[in-house]
Amino acid sequence: MATAITNIGTLVTNDPSLGQGPLGIIENAAVVIDGDRIAWVGSSSKAPPTDNRTDAEGRAAVPGFVDSHSHLVFAGDRTAEFNARMSGRRYTAGGIRTTVAATRAASDDELDATVARHVAEALRQGTTTIETKSGYGLTVEDEARCLRIAARHTDEVTFLGAHIVPPDHADDPAAYVDLVTGPMLDACAPHARWIDVFCERGAFDGDQARAVLTAGAARGLTPRIHANQLGPGPGVQLAVELGAASADHCTYLTEQDVDALAGGSTVATLLPGVEFSTRSPYPDARRLLDAGVTVALSTDCNPGSSFTSSVPFCIAVAVRDMGMTPDEALHAATVGGAAALRRTDVGRVGEGARADLVLLDAPSHVHLAYRPGVPLVSAVWRAGVREV
Ligand SMILES: [Zn+2]
Repeated sequence: MATAITNIGTLVTNDPSLGQGPLGIIENAAVVIDGDRIAWVGSSSKAPPTDNRTDAEGRAAVPGFVDSHSHLVFAGDRTAEFNARMSGRRYTAGGIRTTVAATRAASDDELDATVARHVAEALRQGTTTIETKSGYGLTVEDEARCLRIAARHTDEVTFLGAHIVPPDHADDPAAYVDLVTGPMLDACAPHARWIDVFCERGAFDGDQARAVLTAGAARGLTPRIHANQLGPGPGVQLAVELGAASADHCTYLTEQDVDALAGGSTVATLLPGVEFSTRSPYPDARRLLDAGVTVALSTDCNPGSSFTSSVPFCIAVAVRDMGMTPDEALHAATVGGAAALRRTDVGRVGEGARADLVLLDAPSHVHLAYRPGVPLVSAVWRAGVREV
């Protein structure tokens, strides 16, 4: 049974062959959804007859957001840590270790409910594809169960056993890398599509990151990486060398890093919720875009450094503080995220794409940045089902 959404004031397709500019914008548009796919896109006056019709009443429509970086399998709460940071007070207990302890202590049902709640929260804000990671278990059993739980809620599941060296291995990080690349990978690979590592001073160095990513690749997982977030480092160039799908954060980049990204296929995923929530300098999106790098924009939703599930919020910050135009920010949050997940079926509105569509209570997608913090999402279809 097909449904036509007619009288869309401004439709962003992300397909330049369908409309104006890089976003492929069609004015006075209609979209026909058949099953879980988009069957037709064009001018509203030419929409074919369908069983059902929804009148968009001139609202703008955009592809469902693709959030290619989140950490939703966690337990516990870090309000006190955030409050201390924002109040200029020192806060020693805590960080990721707090979340690891709470996650290990939580039941499967508690973790499942937390993932479900945040996926639903993201969906209400227009996110129709979301990647999520393990990384708060850090034992063979806890990492594997976190991935099993994540896989109930999304196909885009990432094994991040190399998030930090857990306190129980603090004396011997090399033994922890052996665990991650050995028994933990054996237990986790069947439940994940991706392998990730936090390559940063204080976490894992370049050699350790290489060992983790190549071991994962040998088990059929595709690499992605947390890199160059807190300072310069080897992560971005390692990502390009290994053909990683994405290098995430990219806040501190050298000329060589930018050149490597521009010359490779690795997407640069920017996560401004982190800099916002830690009062840190933002990555320079303008520099990457001007160099021809494919940029994705995602939330990094996690209970410590970026507890937002809102892609519209990230779009507004990227426009305000990272040198992106409203068009570029929307592109990065849709087709850019899809590229970071190596998906061509999402992040665009065109015949054959998955029917993921967001209607905005606004005449234009530019309002996502122009009206920061305003709940503009008025309807969401995911795989052809109206969810909001
Ligand atoms: Zn992250």
